[in-house]
Amino acid sequence: MKDKIRSLADQIHGKAVAWRRHLHQNPELSFHEYETSAFVKGELDQLGIPYTPMADTGVVALIHGEQPSDKVVALRADMDALPITEVEGRAYGSKNVGVMHACGHDVHTASLLGTAHILQSLKADFGGTVKLIFQPGEERLPGGASLMIKAGALQNPKPQAVIGQHVMPLIPVGKVGFRGGKYMASTDELYVTVSGQGGHGAQPQQNIDPVVITAHIIIALQQVVSRFADPKIPSVLSFGKVIANGATNVIPDTVYLEGTFRTFDEEWRKEAHGRMVKMAMGIAESMGGSCDFEVRSGYPFLVNEEKLTAEIRGYAEDFLGKENVVDLDLWLAAEDFAYYSQVADACFYRLGTRNEAKGITSAVHTPTFDIDEHALALSTGLMAYITLRRLTG
Ligand SMILES: [Zn+2]
Ligand SMILES: [Zn+2]
Repeated sequence: MKDKIRSLADQIHGKAVAWRRHLHQNPELSFHEYETSAFVKGELDQLGIPYTPMADTGVVALIHGEQPSDKVVALRADMDALPITEVEGRAYGSKNVGVMHACGHDVHTASLLGTAHILQSLKADFGGTVKLIFQPGEERLPGGASLMIKAGALQNPKPQAVIGQHVMPLIPVGKVGFRGGKYMASTDELYVTVSGQGGHGAQPQQNIDPVVITAHIIIALQQVVSRFADPKIPSVLSFGKVIANGATNVIPDTVYLEGTFRTFDEEWRKEAHGRMVKMAMGIAESMGGSCDFEVRSGYPFLVNEEKLTAEIRGYAEDFLGKENVVDLDLWLAAEDFAYYSQVADACFYRLGTRNEAKGITSAVHTPTFDIDEHALALSTGLMAYITLRRLTG
């Protein structure tokens, strides 16, 4: 079976690269993936795979194995691009100026179509159902995954496992990475306005200085992480935007801050929100000012179910060789696949796309991001193999 899948993956590699390049040239922003969605539906039509549109631009397709089994495996790809202008001079560069597949979601979509191609041609060899989830809006709140789940993507039939992959420019092409347990952080956006009473910088006694209040708030809030968080739960609080907008001799009326809070525990996350708001408001009030503190909750933390992840990692080692499967570190970025992992047994693994010899080293979310397309020869077959082993095991 391994060899059969490898040869099928080799056969469709050209197609997968063409799909990826088409998607790369025609990127669409989160929740506007209309052409992308139509493209996916068109390819599914050609493959004879039935599908249901969901959450506006999302698509859920089903491949039924011909042998009797009620096992269900869901495979997820995200389809959206980012508001980034791609570096010029690429043969398959973005035609949609200002929009770019800089997070590799073109690769995920093309790869899942390739996997669908392989599994569809092996229908006689397995039982159970493969659910293909092509989702919108990974890069923007509230996250396409949450909308797909609300719309019923994990019902009828309900999968026993949800599997996703994501490109990783830190890992050399030919390798994949796994981590069981907690892997990526919950992410909340913080929007804070500290108000005082502006005036001449020479007469602070007549003003309420929001800059000094803000300085106290920034320092004090770090204690939410250093004094209240359980040291076993990684937590990060960073303010990347602080606007006072006075002058050397002008105390402004307000100071505006934006920050991010990330962690790995839902209970602590809620507690931390409360502590931050209370502390900031208390400090502002005690100094004669006031504070408006808005927490915009983002994605939850992503947890790879331990048993499932160990099982899938074993299949990957079997398919690619042990030397081509690496460990992943905990990472405090966010990913909306986390929503699937909160309601189902899930596994999110990383696909190596780096090739230093070819100069392919740029990080995701940069204008120079690219992949070694050889990754597509491996990713389509690997996901098909994992799915078949899971359904037939
Ligand atoms: Zn991204
Ligand atoms: Zn991404």
